[in-house]
Amino acid sequence: MKPILIIGGGIGGLSAAIALHGKGFDVEIIERSKDWTVYHVGIIVQSNFVRALATLGLADAAVKAGFPYRGARFRDLHGALVAELPGEPSAMGYPADLGLTRPALHRVLTDRVGELGIKVRLGVTLNTMTDTGEQVDASFSDGSSGSYSLVIGADGAYSGMRKTLFPDTPPPKYTGQGVWRYNLPRPPDLHWAEIYMGKHGGKAGYVPLTQDTMYVLAVFEEPGNPRFPPDTLAAEFRKRLEGYGGLLAKFREQITDPALVVYRPLEVCIMPDPWYKGRAVLIGDAAHSATPHLGQGAAMAVEDSVVLAEEAAKSPADLQHALRGFMDRRYERAKLVGLSSIKLGHLEMHPEEEGDPVEITDFIRKKLAEAI
Ligand SMILES: Cc1cc2nc3c(=O)[nH]c(=O)nc-3n(C[C@H](O)[C@H](O)[C@H](O)COP(=O)(O)OP(=O)(O)OC[C@H]3O[C@@H](n4cnc5c(N)ncnc54)[C@H](O)[C@@H]3O)c2cc1C
Repeated sequence: MKPILIIGGGIGGLSAAIALHGKGFDVEIIERSKDWTVYHVGIIVQSNFVRALATLGLADAAVKAGFPYRGARFRDLHGALVAELPGEPSAMGYPADLGLTRPALHRVLTDRVGELGIKVRLGVTLNTMTDTGEQVDASFSDGSSGSYSLVIGADGAYSGMRKTLFPDTPPPKYTGQGVWRYNLPRPPDLHWAEIYMGKHGGKAGYVPLTQDTMYVLAVFEEPGNPRFPPDTLAAEFRKRLEGYGGLLAKFREQITDPALVVYRPLEVCIMPDPWYKGRAVLIGDAAHSATPHLGQGAAMAVEDSVVLAEEAAKSPADLQHALRGFMDRRYERAKLVGLSSIKLGHLEMHPEEEGDPVEITDFIRKKLAEAI
């Protein structure tokens, strides 16, 4: 069987390579970035992410690299506790909720790819791709070429593969909100992600990330999708945190360096079924990039990888059957996460509409604990 080509060495591409290699497939990765660095941001993941990493044999490394915390607490504008959703582990012996830095997760995945001897070519992109029905013939930006049994587009929210396979899909759409983040030292007694609600247009809070760090976040309505001059970012973030009480008011005062603020407008692209065409398939953000309201982007990418490898191993001689099996197990789940994330953001901007954010979050957390 010809090798499988993975386009993109992010969370989805790396986990797909590890999962497929584990099922005996020959895989190669191409990654556009020459130095393969990732944003220094924090991400939060939940029990389904830990379970998917356990399937890849990487849960110990991820837990060691991150900081297990107890779950999500919801507070009102003044800091009074409104609700508490403790994390419920899905993988035996592992915690449910985990804070991680993105570089730490990248290291866990790239170290394993290196140990397994998986071929990775950096600074390389796909030039052309011809699906003959029997194989995919590809040519690359470094002048090389190759033939593959399957091409996996794991090239993120602005996927070039998505454009090639499904040229009519509209680009990611701005939802009306942006997310603000800032890392600070973690108070030793902070063991919960705490979200403050009650301000029109969004929410704010803080999340433990490592033994020593946490991040403050705010998700707010940003009419007109503004671009902020870099030197104003700390002042703009503090403005979004005006009016909050509790610990958040204290953390707000520590947001002083505009260079350390990470701001990102929220954009979404949830692909309809199918995410595959011929011998090519999309996974991760390329197929379903949602907003961060449920903290599920990384988990969805790793789950896609685990399921794709399982279905490919079940039907190695019938790729179309394997890809259909993959869709049947992934589509409704990823769509539920995507649409629920969008709904949560919409409710923040339109609190008069029906829907309880705590109930929605609780429902999804329980749903995602179900087997994939
Ligand atoms: C600021 C921020 C905070 C986030 N916080 C969270 C969080 O708290 N929890 C969570 O679960 N998720 C979070 N996410 C979302 C999460 O990071 C994504 O859902 C996840 O990274 C998706 O993985 P992916 O592999 O599909 O895409 P990516 O991680 O984006 O990887 C895509 C890779 O493809 C490469 N690439 C792109 N085009 C090409 C090409 N033409 N050829 C070769 N390579 C290419 C890119 O360089 C990149 O390495 C956050 C995202 C951002 C930006």
